[in-house]
Amino acid sequence: MPEQLKAKIIAVANQKGGVGKTTTAINLGAALARDGRNVLIVDLDPQGNASTGLGVEPEDRERTTYDLLLDEAPLNSVIRRTSFENLWICPATTDLSSADLEMISNEKRTLLLRTALRQGGRTAEGFDYILIDCPPSLSLLTINAMVAAHSVLVPLQSEFFALEGLSQLMLTVREIRGSANADLRIEGVVLTMYDGRNRLAQQVELDARETLGDLVYRTVIPRNVRVSEAPSYAQPVLDYDPTSKGSIAYRALAREVMRSHEPQPS
Ligand code: ADP
Ligand code: MG
Repeated sequence: MPEQLKAKIIAVANQKGGVGKTTTAINLGAALARDGRNVLIVDLDPQGNASTGLGVEPEDRERTTYDLLLDEAPLNSVIRRTSFENLWICPATTDLSSADLEMISNEKRTLLLRTALRQGGRTAEGFDYILIDCPPSLSLLTINAMVAAHSVLVPLQSEFFALEGLSQLMLTVREIRGSANADLRIEGVVLTMYDGRNRLAQQVELDARETLGDLVYRTVIPRNVRVSEAPSYAQPVLDYDPTSKGSIAYRALAREVMRSHEPQPS
């Protein structure tokens, strides 16, 4: 397998819904792209929120992640440019909701996305970062993402029980390390929708930093209405409101991510 891929493949995962996975995939992706990196977002959620949020209308999604996984459509036939410079998307539709069932009988079922991305030849080669927006479950789709990825980035909503779900996620990561992807790392944990005035949020942050140490990014994503408005304008918040707190935070997160992957000039 030609595995010496330049692209860093990062699965954005958390089995809880509504914790900021899609928002992070879009806006971290946009922030990396703004810094000149070529970025592909793979929409792996049948809800297709990343696709919609980046302006790909459902009727325009001719070829999708489903085709990539189940019909061996080559990566270059599925991805498309977004209106944001350097940012590409592999869109998803509700078709993907049947993928789990359809994959079950395939003996390579956990390797489908890995094969599509890592053997995607020159197409995958053109990207610096590939972010996979996972569905809110630890289903076969999410397993595919973790088997395909170099690392897992976990958005953690700053609320009660946030850390409980994390142990199950970490267990899944360990299982995958023990089977199909020995090199899988935790990229980092990012606190999302953070409200610094809220005592509970502060406590979740303290707990997370105490338990997870350096895995938790210094950057915290604040709760910011501009972030939640941006998708309905089919834009990353970086375009919708570049000076908003959300934009500034996602740009800072992108710098942390780049720092850990790219050699720093001394
Ligand atoms: P997931 O993909 O994990 O289900 P989403 O990224 O779709 O989560 O986020 C869930 C909801 O929270 C969405 O309505 C989104 O707009 C909103 N949201 C996410 N991050 C923020 C933020 N930093 N500030 C305000 N709203 C946010
Ligand atoms: Mg989502």
